[in-house]
Amino acid sequence: MDIADWEKRYVEAVSNVREQLLNVQGVFVAYNSNIDAMKHIREDEIKKLIGILGCKKVNERIALYPREIKDPVDLMARLIIAMRDGKAAEVPTYSNDIHEWLMDNLVFDSARMGGQAGIISNLLANLGVKNVITYVPWLSREQAEYFADSPNLRHPVMENGELVLKHPKEAYDPQQKPKINWIIEFSRGMKFSCAGEEYKIPRDNRLIVSSRPDWIHIDMAPGMYEHLSDIREGIDGAILAGYQMIKEEYQDGSTYKDYVQRAVNVIQRLKGCNPQMRIHVEFTSIQNKVIRKAILTDIVKKHVTSLGLDTVEVANALNVLGYEELAYSVINKGENSILSLYEGAVMLLRELELQRVHIHSLGYYICVVSKDHPLDADAHRQALLFSSALAATQASLGSIRSLDDISAGLAIPVYGQGYDDLIELERHLVRTGVCTAGDFEDGCISADGHDLIIIPSKVVKEPVATVGIGDAISAGAFVALLAKMPKMNICRMPE
Ligand code: ADP
Repeated sequence: MDIADWEKRYVEAVSNVREQLLNVQGVFVAYNSNIDAMKHIREDEIKKLIGILGCKKVNERIALYPREIKDPVDLMARLIIAMRDGKAAEVPTYSNDIHEWLMDNLVFDSARMGGQAGIISNLLANLGVKNVITYVPWLSREQAEYFADSPNLRHPVMENGELVLKHPKEAYDPQQKPKINWIIEFSRGMKFSCAGEEYKIPRDNRLIVSSRPDWIHIDMAPGMYEHLSDIREGIDGAILAGYQMIKEEYQDGSTYKDYVQRAVNVIQRLKGCNPQMRIHVEFTSIQNKVIRKAILTDIVKKHVTSLGLDTVEVANALNVLGYEELAYSVINKGENSILSLYEGAVMLLRELELQRVHIHSLGYYICVVSKDHPLDADAHRQALLFSSALAATQASLGSIRSLDDISAGLAIPVYGQGYDDLIELERHLVRTGVCTAGDFEDGCISADGHDLIIIPSKVVKEPVATVGIGDAISAGAFVALLAKMPKMNICRMPE
């Protein structure tokens, strides 16, 4: 099948999913919303900041590779590492001092909704999905301002012992402080020097300084947790993200184990006795390996049905699950990396007892689906195509205001390199007898108890923005699948 055939499939899939989207009753989305302070840093500003802190200090700190930002020198060290390598990075900071220092010395260009759950909630609301229930454990007045002004977007609040749903602007806690992350973007070609070292930035990318003040808890008030069953009937599935904010230890003596247990309890409450409830977890980079492993083996495994992640995150996940060699070949970028990615996806599906693993990469998406998933490979492929058109829309417009915007993404051509990678995988699978070329033509094979669906994606040459595209891909595909799911009778479970 050539690229022109894929383009036809795109048009068909988008048209189908558009018609079906109103079948979705509702989606619950939690936990992480924050305010993103965006700053596109200029060459003169980098030089100014280095000047304030001193080259020697910054250079010594680069060698130490700080995994947490404790002071402005740590910040500058991680920014220079990200710029030197042209790689995206997200580094936590646990105090408010960095925000204040950046406000004094840099100031942001603009602010917008950030955090996977916040971005996904607004996206689904803007796409017109009925009943988007968003939940942020730290909903402040400032945060509420960044939610889409849409009547289909609501947040639970407890009133007189009852759970009621209100727009976030009517549901915030006036005492709550806002969580503000900094996103410092840099451009390819910028040059500067520090302690005799010359730097030339090889790629556009960004450093995210993720603020994690003490009051960040991935949690729910007990009263609300007990009433989750009230919203169960109005939703077909949930998208959960933000577990990376769980800490190993808390000041009150509790540990990550307590928060993992609470996270599992929330999922169990949402599912109730409805085995068809779809639960998607959007993974992200998690520096702490204890937490990364606990999220995968204690929250995702057995409790979650679907997992979304990018290629680096696949490697990170495989690494803590004990597949170091496979993890290495996934990120090695060699000619076999797409094959390793496929093997890695299958490994995650099996190890974590999932029904679906969706990996997005620049140029193609790979999805492996277990045999017990209620939808066929064609439905899964349509969901991926829809999500790729959505991602291209997000990349070319910077935001998605309504479902009609998707025509902008649809107009972006299929990425040639992604198509070539897909052909590479096909050759390998045919050569090793896993499938025939005919099977692969459909972008799917049935082997070893799972289906493989792989599509070439649409890639925008000069994206307006890069943050949140991965979230749009995962949420778009998940909601498209919800729209295609046969509707079940949902039982009410006695509490
Ligand atoms: P984010 O946190 O920004 O969502 P991820 O790494 O999770 O980052 O996702 C980024 C994904 O976005 C990539 O895997 C790729 O599929 C997609 N993407 C990135 N740039 C573009 C682009 N210019 N056009 C279309 N898709 C893109």
